[in-house]
Amino acid sequence: MMFAVGKGNQLFRVSETVFHGLTSVCIRKAMDYAKFALPSRYHGSEKSVWVEYIQLALEHKPLNLGQGFPDFAAPDYVTKALSDAALSDNVLLNQYTRGFGHPRLISALSRLYSKLIGRSIDAQSEILVTCGAYEALFASILGHTNPGDEVIIIEPYFDCYVPMVRAGGGVPRFIPLRPKKAEGTVSSSDWVLDEKELEGLFNSKTKAIILNTPNNPVGKVFNQRELELIAQLCKKWNVLCISDEVYEWLVYKPNKHIRIASLPGMWERTITIGSAGKTFSVTGWKIGWAYGPAPLMKNLQAVHQNSVYTCSTPLQEAVAKGFEIEIERMGSPECYFESLAAELVAKRDYMAKFLSEVGMNPTIPEGGYFMIADWSPLESKVNLNDETDKYKDYRFTKWMTKNVKLQGIPPSAFYSDEHKNLVENFVRYCFIKKDENLQKAHTILKNWKK
Ligand code: PMP
Ligand code: GLN
Repeated sequence: MMFAVGKGNQLFRVSETVFHGLTSVCIRKAMDYAKFALPSRYHGSEKSVWVEYIQLALEHKPLNLGQGFPDFAAPDYVTKALSDAALSDNVLLNQYTRGFGHPRLISALSRLYSKLIGRSIDAQSEILVTCGAYEALFASILGHTNPGDEVIIIEPYFDCYVPMVRAGGGVPRFIPLRPKKAEGTVSSSDWVLDEKELEGLFNSKTKAIILNTPNNPVGKVFNQRELELIAQLCKKWNVLCISDEVYEWLVYKPNKHIRIASLPGMWERTITIGSAGKTFSVTGWKIGWAYGPAPLMKNLQAVHQNSVYTCSTPLQEAVAKGFEIEIERMGSPECYFESLAAELVAKRDYMAKFLSEVGMNPTIPEGGYFMIADWSPLESKVNLNDETDKYKDYRFTKWMTKNVKLQGIPPSAFYSDEHKNLVENFVRYCFIKKDENLQKAHTILKNWKK
């Protein structure tokens, strides 16, 4: 068959093949994006406090005590280990390494955690190296969640837990830590779970509970009794415990970090998560890990091998060297795990002092590098009507970023909708910052208060 193409009296006869070729070039049908809307498993997760507040910081250039990262150098033997790895005569250190973890790193992690947990941890089958603790959480949650499974989440929680549970079709069930007191010196140990409420959440549909100790953002270090209760309920209901322990080394005396995997009967039902970013003050390296019993780790491996497959080789080599050095000096004051915590106590206490001085009421954290503080005594100095957000802590932190040039994070980002109101009067500040920057924060607040 022949077709006529052209206009008016300028018509040409073309073959069917040429005609179809021409029409596909000329007819542009508008793309229908409705077909490409975000899949429903991510509905409700479109907003991220990190995306929003990092953009806010770029625009307003405040003193940034928002996103948690050190503004000082990591230990030089760790950063040098990275440059040595990249420049090594062993050119393979710049190529893919073993998918479930670089041999030198899993061997160091196995040595370290075998000692800390009190059992022999098999490097090959019981450890997985991931792209930051984020990916370890993702693999743990997605590797265990079937549609309809319930996952208990203690509030405040690191915000990505919920979108991850929902992406797996799971149902988050929330229980908030509530402060026992609001006046006087408040410690993160005053933020507690209601035991009956916790017991009431466990049922036959419960697949997992996510624990974060030391907690971000409150700084609570769960004590033996609290962990034993969680352990007892996990065992009673045959539930998995995903224990996010990225701040395991940042615990302030006399508090002690207890790994729930080391409690009786808990190894076989716990996946513990760590982060090189927090351990060696290199948050930009995005190397993390998960360890636990082989039958559970197999599920994480399935998620990892089909998404990320393998993490950066030179970074893993450098983190391995860092651990080799620190394992040798563990328990001594030179050990980075000890010295960083000691350095942070002074920063924590200084921040608590200047926040109290300007009239806020801080909760003194037992661990981690964040402090939450009740700012409501200063409400008359802030024009919350300038901002339109639903929750007051968002309005407060945005107003402060723009007008006072000091940035914090709204803690309601770490709560479910039903409990966000519990922390609307709070702000989270990060204190792993150079002394001069903490002093600047102090000055900014003092001048504002005047
Ligand atoms: N869990 C908690 C509690 C955190 O604060 C963070 C902070 N980044 C992560 C997990 C993620 O760690 P990473 O940067 O190693 O992915
Ligand atoms: N864990 C860090 C914090 O809580 C960083 C979070 C992030 O960048 N997503 O500030």
